[in-house]
Amino acid sequence: MRIDVLTIFPEMFDGVFSSSILGKARDKGIVQLNTVNFRDYSGNKHNTVDDYPYGGGGGMVLKAEPIFAAVEDLILPESKIKPRIILMCPQGETYTQKKAEELSAEEHLVLICGHYEGYDERIRRYLVTDELSIGDYVLTGGELPAMSVIDSVVRLLPGVLGNEQSAVTDSFSTGLLEYPHYTRPAKFRDWEVPEVLISGHHVNVEKWRRKESLLRTLERRPDLLEGRELSKEELGWVAAWQAEKRDKSIEK
Ligand code: SAM
Repeated sequence: MRIDVLTIFPEMFDGVFSSSILGKARDKGIVQLNTVNFRDYSGNKHNTVDDYPYGGGGGMVLKAEPIFAAVEDLILPESKIKPRIILMCPQGETYTQKKAEELSAEEHLVLICGHYEGYDERIRRYLVTDELSIGDYVLTGGELPAMSVIDSVVRLLPGVLGNEQSAVTDSFSTGLLEYPHYTRPAKFRDWEVPEVLISGHHVNVEKWRRKESLLRTLERRPDLLEGRELSKEELGWVAAWQAEKRDKSIEK
C-alpha cells in the first residue's frame, strides 16, 4: 500500500512514520508512507495556500489550486490504480473500524490535512472521494486525524502485526468490545485475577472471554448490539447480568 499525506506541517509525521509498528511496516516494505508539502504547489512567490473568504467573515480558506495540483502530481496518468482521496474534516463521515477495514483493502490512499477556517468547497465537491471525521470535536489541523487513520489502516495490513498483537479480537473487529486482560502477578494488592484465567482450561477461558466481551459491550456500548442475534447461551448471560444489576439497585 502507498499512503501520501498532503500537509503544510510534514515534520509532524517524522516521529509517527518512523516509530513502533508503523516504522516497522515501512522498513519491511509493507507500506510506503510519504508526506507532500502542498505549499510547494502554491504557485506564488510567498508560498501562500490560503486566502480570504468570499462574502467576508473571519478566518482564512485553503485555496483549491495547490491542493488540486499536489494531488494531480501524485497520480500518474497511465496508472490504473485509482487512489482514495480523503479529506480530513470534522463535517465528514465518522471514522470507524469498519472504514479502516475498507481502506486497508486499497492500494493507494491520499489524505488531505486542512487548517484555518476551512477548504474551498470545490476541493470537497470535485476532488475527494471520502470525507472523514475522527469525532465530534474540532482540532486545529488535519494532521492528528490523518495519523489516527493511517495507524488504524496500516496495522490491518497482512504482516504488520505479529500473532501476539493480532487484530482479530480487537474491540469493534468482532462487533463487540474486547474482554478484560490480566497479567502477572495473580494477586496485586488485594485484587486477584479471575480464577478461570489461571485454571489452564482453554475451553472455559474462551467461554469466559466471550461472556465478558458481550457483557462489557452491553454495559458500555449497547448500541453495538442492536440487530445482533444472540445465542441461547448469550441470552442466559444477559438475563443473569440484568438480574444481578437489579438486585444491586434494590440493595442500594
Ligand atoms: N471551520 C471548520 C468547521 O467548522 O468544520 C473547522 C476547521 S478546523 C479548525 C481545521 C482543520 O482541522 C479541518 O479542515 C480538518 O482538516 C481538521 N480537523 C479538525 N477537526 C477534525 C476532526 N474532528 N476530524 C477530522 N479532521 C479535523
